[in-house]
Amino acid sequence: MYLEVENLVKSFGNIPVIKNLTFSIEKGQLISFVGESGSGKSTFLKCLSGLENINSGKVILNNKIINDKNLFVKPQRRKIGYVFQDYPLFPHLNIRENICFNLEKRYFKNFEDIVKLTNLKQLLERYPHEISGGEQQRVSIARSIIREPDLLLLDEPFSNLDANIKYSIRDEICKIIKKTNTTTILVTHDINDALNISDKILIFKAGIVQQYSDPEKMYCEPANCYCAEVLGEINKFPKDDKIYYIRPENLKVVDSSSNSIIIEKCFFQGKSYKLLGKYDNNIWSLYSKTPLKINSKVFFEYSDSDLIYFGDSCPKFFS
Ligand code: ADP
Ligand code: MG
Repeated sequence: MYLEVENLVKSFGNIPVIKNLTFSIEKGQLISFVGESGSGKSTFLKCLSGLENINSGKVILNNKIINDKNLFVKPQRRKIGYVFQDYPLFPHLNIRENICFNLEKRYFKNFEDIVKLTNLKQLLERYPHEISGGEQQRVSIARSIIREPDLLLLDEPFSNLDANIKYSIRDEICKIIKKTNTTTILVTHDINDALNISDKILIFKAGIVQQYSDPEKMYCEPANCYCAEVLGEINKFPKDDKIYYIRPENLKVVDSSSNSIIIEKCFFQGKSYKLLGKYDNNIWSLYSKTPLKINSKVFFEYSDSDLIYFGDSCPKFFS
């Protein structure tokens, strides 16, 4: 494994933020780190980059220990790139100077390639205030990648971008990361980012990893109700004295069946209508191609293979 984190513990005073984190990443993988605000995502990135000390545990990157109880490699000696949400470029330096600021001689050979890859050629003589947010984020990425980092850390890098350009910039940056085979951890609260571009997703809550798996597995086989809800809507389905769950898109509206719900709300969503209705005192959502009247009864079918079961007492999350 290229990055190995073993039993990492981090507290501020006596408040534990990371209780015990163990996971690993292969070279070139892009991992999304998903968790609520305040769950310790940025703290974890700071621990990896050496901006924060850890209480205990071990971090191995590219076969070298960078942190354990005997060793602390200083941030500037770790080959780790760090890009934040608010791309801090030097305002008094132009884009070329920003990319090359403090750059070791041996990396200048990468300049042409990186500029081409990040499509910044036309902007090199401009200053940060003369380019857009998306372009500034590309400059931050170029500045990191030119240094051939062993690991790239992206802390909510797209959250300050306008919604309409966010996804195209995200996809561009993802392409650059994949082309350069840069091992990357992306912290995001946008579940679309996690599902669309990551090789694996790590869901973090209460200082503990709740699940670490590829997007499809996480969506279809969530470890607990918490992971299931983080990745998308899910309906609670009491059946045969057990509690199952089912995703709305797996409920098919039909003319008649033995299962029905009473419609409470119906929203037009472009591609389909979203329905909210009551099933056995639980509010459900499902989709229909046609609008349905409030208080009407709608019949649905489902396939048993789409039912999700967490056991008799699903923990909301592991703590
Ligand atoms: P996230 O990035 O997931 O939103 P953070 O890692 O920024 O969360 O913060 C996790 C928790 O640690 C929060 O409760 C925050 O207040 C606390 N925290 C972060 N940095 C410090 C610090 N330097 N000193 C004390 N508490 C901190
Ligand atoms: Mg944060």
